[in-house]
Amino acid sequence: MLQDRFGRTIDYLRLSVTDRCDLRCSYCLPARFKGFEEPAHWLSFAEIRRVVAAFAALGVRRVRLTGGEPLLRKDLPQLAASLSALGLDDLSLSTNATQLLRFAPALKQAGVTRVNVSLDSLDRACLAGITGRDAHTAIFAGIMAAKAAELTPLKLNMVAMRGVNEQDIIPMAEFAMQHSFILRLIEAMPMGESGRNTAFLDLGPVREMLVQRFALQPEVIELGGGPARYWKTPDGLGRIGFITPMSQHFCASCNRVRLTVDGTLHLCLGQEHSVALRPLLRQGISDEALQQVIREAIELKPERHEFNEAPQKIIRFMSQTGG
Ligand code: SAM
Repeated sequence: MLQDRFGRTIDYLRLSVTDRCDLRCSYCLPARFKGFEEPAHWLSFAEIRRVVAAFAALGVRRVRLTGGEPLLRKDLPQLAASLSALGLDDLSLSTNATQLLRFAPALKQAGVTRVNVSLDSLDRACLAGITGRDAHTAIFAGIMAAKAAELTPLKLNMVAMRGVNEQDIIPMAEFAMQHSFILRLIEAMPMGESGRNTAFLDLGPVREMLVQRFALQPEVIELGGGPARYWKTPDGLGRIGFITPMSQHFCASCNRVRLTVDGTLHLCLGQEHSVALRPLLRQGISDEALQQVIREAIELKPERHEFNEAPQKIIRFMSQTGG
């Protein structure tokens, strides 16, 4: 089992398979960004599998494929199949859904258990304003394909922004309930210039408003082992999660680390602590030594982020680290 200096058990790996994306969400990837990782630096599928196998041997049971947009990585279902063969408890995917119509059945077949879809608005114009292009039709077709392929429970992740998509929170909640999806509202984090320039919306008052509107009750059981705190409708069928890294951080229960496409292991989303695994993999490190490097890396995991105290600190934006 992997435990850090603060007694936290690390049992969750978020694996970025690409830093590229077909959208340019205003809070994430700057529109004119050119500094993508060069392909020679991308971990190969075999290298990724080795790292995940090392984590699995150390007790990590859950892996999420993310990016950039993970479905832009060629043959992603093939990678998913090779990772699910490691016998993980949960192999999930975060996606913007633009490619899901094409890939949902293959992902299910490859052993992906469920997907989280980023969706910030139901409204075509508002969504295009946030994502930088009109992908509404593809996104909704993708979401319905994931539902049909039973990549469930399907969570919709909505970054809530003051004056941008606040008005869409209730329609999003109703849409989610209608389709048995779980809506999760997320506070924007100051990651990179794009994150810092985002109109922050405190989710505390939003939660109060939704509690009134849908007669929500707090979920007693912890769902999913992640940072979201869930509330449910009186019939227990509708759920809304709140992810509040800014107004109420959850670092004390952080259970995750992140591997970027270039093989860098990041110990915290909001700090710089990291270890480069790619050179070690390419120098032929043994499985045992790789596990030892990971154990030592976990020792570096910082206690908490400093998004509030030092918002300018993290210059990498979310799609570089893997959200
Ligand atoms: N392309 C995939 C997707 O759209 O879900 C995976 C990568 S994306 C970077 C993962 C998540 O990070 C998305 O839900 C996105 O909304 C979130 N995200 C990106 N930048 C963020 C920021 N500055 N603050 C909060 N969430 C952010």
